[in-house]
Amino acid sequence: MNALKDPAKSIIIAGGGIGGLACALALANRGYPSRVLEQAPEFKEVGAGIQLGPNSWRALRELGAEGAVKSLAVFPKALVMNDAITAEEVVSIPLGGFEQRFGAPYALIHRADFLNALLETCKKSPLISLIHSQQVKSFADDGKTVRIETAWAAHFDTPALIGADGLWSTIRGQLIGDGAPRVAGHITYRAVLPAAEVPEHLRRWDMVLWSGPKCHLVHYPLRGGELYNLVAVFHSNRYEEGWNSYGDPAELKERFQDTCADVKTMLGKIAEWRMWVLCDREPIKQWSKGRVTLLGDAAHPMLQYLAQGAGMAMEDSLMIAKCLDEADSVEAAFQAYPAKRYIRTGRLQLSARLYGEFYHAEGLRRELRNAYCRKLGYEGLAWIYDGWDGS
Ligand SMILES: Cc1cc2nc3c(=O)[nH]c(=O)nc-3n(C[C@H](O)[C@H](O)[C@H](O)COP(=O)(O)OP(=O)(O)OC[C@H]3O[C@@H](n4cnc5c(N)ncnc54)[C@H](O)[C@@H]3O)c2cc1C
Repeated sequence: MNALKDPAKSIIIAGGGIGGLACALALANRGYPSRVLEQAPEFKEVGAGIQLGPNSWRALRELGAEGAVKSLAVFPKALVMNDAITAEEVVSIPLGGFEQRFGAPYALIHRADFLNALLETCKKSPLISLIHSQQVKSFADDGKTVRIETAWAAHFDTPALIGADGLWSTIRGQLIGDGAPRVAGHITYRAVLPAAEVPEHLRRWDMVLWSGPKCHLVHYPLRGGELYNLVAVFHSNRYEEGWNSYGDPAELKERFQDTCADVKTMLGKIAEWRMWVLCDREPIKQWSKGRVTLLGDAAHPMLQYLAQGAGMAMEDSLMIAKCLDEADSVEAAFQAYPAKRYIRTGRLQLSARLYGEFYHAEGLRRELRNAYCRKLGYEGLAWIYDGWDGS
C-alpha cells in the first residue's frame, strides 16, 4: 500500500518489546516506515531465558534477524521431561533432526540478548524510528488519521496504529474494552544461575522440565553454557493480580516439598527469585477496528507452557506486513490480519492452559501423561512447529 510508504506518515507501533520491534522489522522489510513508541526510558527485557521453537526461528529468519541472534543462542540437544517425584526420565526428544523436519532449529536465548539483537537490527534500518519514554495513553481514529496522546501531553499522528503494548495493553483497553486479563492461579518464579553453581550431573545441554504435582521446574543453558535459566511454577490462589515482584524462597520450598533431590538442589541454589502471577485471556476472533490493531500479548496473551508467546508476536508481525501489501486500505488489511491468525493463536491460548494441567498432573492423570509423551514424542507439538500461513 503505497500511501503508507511516505516517511512523513509512518505507522506507529505502541510498545517496543519483542513484538513491537519484530513488527517494525517486518514492516521495514516490505518498505513501510514506522515509529516505535516505548514507555520505558530504554528498550529492555527482563533477565531470563526464552525458548524459540522452529516456527519462531523461521519467523526470525524472515524478519532478517537470524544472523544477529544465532551467535548468542544455545541450540540444545534434546527436550527432556522428567518425573519430579521419582526422578525418572519420561521422554527425551532429540532435536538434531528438527532442522530437517521443521526447516529450523530449536533455540534458547537470554531475553536481553534477544531483544538487543532485534534492536540492533532495527537500528540498521533507515525506515525505523525508535522513540523511548513515550507512554501511549489514548488514541482517536477519525477514519483518516489516528491521533495518539501520550502521558507527557505529546501527541503523534499516524495513518495506522499497532498496539504491541503487552498483557496490560492500553490500546486493547480502548479498542476491545474487555477488562483485566484472567488470573490463571499459577505462579512463576524465575532466576538465572551461573553454570559453576549447577551440580555437574545437571549441567546438561538440554531443555529439561521436571513435572510434579501442581508444580514444575524448567532449566536450560544460556550464553554458551555460562548461565542456567530456572523457571519454577506452582498452583496458588494467594495472588490476585498480575504483577511481578520478588518471590519468597520459603514458599517455593513448601510447594516443591514432595519433589526429588535434584529438583530441590536446583531450587536451593537461588537466593533471589522474581515472581510472576500468570495471566491470559479468552481467545477472540477480531482485534482490529478501523486503522488500529493489536499484536502479541496485547491481542492473544497465553500462558507460557508451550513457549510460544514471543513466537506468535513475530508471526503476527509478518502477517500484518503481508496483509498491508495485499489490501488496498489500512482498514481492509487490519480486518484481514486477525482472520488469518485467530485459529492458530486461539488454539495456542487454549492448549497452553491444558498443558499447564498436563505438566502438573497427579495420580492416574500423571501416568496417562507419561504414557502419552513417550508414545508421541514431539508429534504432539508438530502443529505448532509446522506453522501456519493463514491460507
Ligand atoms: C514466565 C514466562 C516465560 C515465557 N517463556 C516464553 C518462551 O520460552 N517462548 C516464547 O515464545 N514466549 C515466552 N513467553 C511469552 C513471551 O514473553 C511474551 O508472549 C512476549 O514477550 C510478548 O511480547 P509483546 O511484545 O507482545 O509484549 P511485551 O514483551 O510485554 O512488550 C510490551 C512492551 O510495550 C511497552 N508498553 C506497555 N504499555 C505501553 C504504553 N502504554 N505505551 C508505550 N509502551 C508500552 C512495555 O514497556 C513493553 O516494552 C513467556 C512468558 C512468561 C511470563
